[in-house]
Amino acid sequence: MARATSSVRHHDDMPRTRRKATRRLGDELRVKPGTRVRLADVDPAETYGRTQETADDELAADLARLTDFQERLWAEHRHKVLVVLQGIDAAGKGGTLEHVMGAFNPLGCPVHAFKVPTEQELAHDYLWRVHARTPGTGEIAIFDRSHYEDVLVVRVLGLVPEERWRKRYDQINAFEQLLAVEGTTILKFFLYIDRDEQRERFQARLADPDKRWKFRMGDLDTRKQWDDYIAAYEDVLSRCSPEQAPWFVIPANKKWFRNLAVAQILADKLTDLDPRYPPPDEEIPPDLVVD
Ligand code: AMP
Ligand code: MG
Repeated sequence: MARATSSVRHHDDMPRTRRKATRRLGDELRVKPGTRVRLADVDPAETYGRTQETADDELAADLARLTDFQERLWAEHRHKVLVVLQGIDAAGKGGTLEHVMGAFNPLGCPVHAFKVPTEQELAHDYLWRVHARTPGTGEIAIFDRSHYEDVLVVRVLGLVPEERWRKRYDQINAFEQLLAVEGTTILKFFLYIDRDEQRERFQARLADPDKRWKFRMGDLDTRKQWDDYIAAYEDVLSRCSPEQAPWFVIPANKKWFRNLAVAQILADKLTDLDPRYPPPDEEIPPDLVVD
């Protein structure tokens, strides 16, 4: 536990014992600006003192908050929220969408999965397709993969020359800064599993006829480049986590903890935004009776 996330943990002056009892998962898992993240120092099976039994109640309460606050956010039509989900294959992006974002009303929650760019997308700059999917007022937009693929898979496979992808960290920071200044709240989650966990999940997919479709032979090539992806992720986490667009490194070997952490961080942020139902239209008489 002491070892886990030591490099992404914020050391404040609160005594350690008190901190343990009071700190929210968002404070534990957020990558502070200027931190050099080393994923070897993060334990992907960490649970911050939770057990699956205690987590069930905590998760239920957080999901209820998500449902409530998202409805208010939608009704108020003031805030915009962007949630980015990244992770290596089988890290659980789909499961997180299902179990956490399932608390949202789909009407105010556009989800977009970014795939290999189409010919038309490739004819534009890499942020073109991304900007078009950012949230409007009242919306919580969810990205399943994102512009970060343009410094992850693109870097690892060498799809553009290094001199181009090297510049993208600053470009991405500037892009997210623009969104933030214009009123978008940004939260980015890196779901972190280790190589053994991925092997088990792949093997389970292969063994289950209902899950086999999720597996592609190409996933094995990506797995062979594990260390390159980890290095690319470390650069993303270290270089692109400013105050207004933080990354959270989510220990994701345990699905129940992953769900709890993402749900709690989202719910705490929505609570901070404090969206309120708008007042009724002033033209409506308070004692109006509908017959
Ligand atoms: P999946 O999320 O498993 O459906 O797979 C989507 C695939 O699209 C992954 O292999 C990603 O690496 C790939 N992909 C997403 N964005 C990009 C991008 N900008 N350039 C190249 N490949 C990408
Ligand atoms: Mg896949």
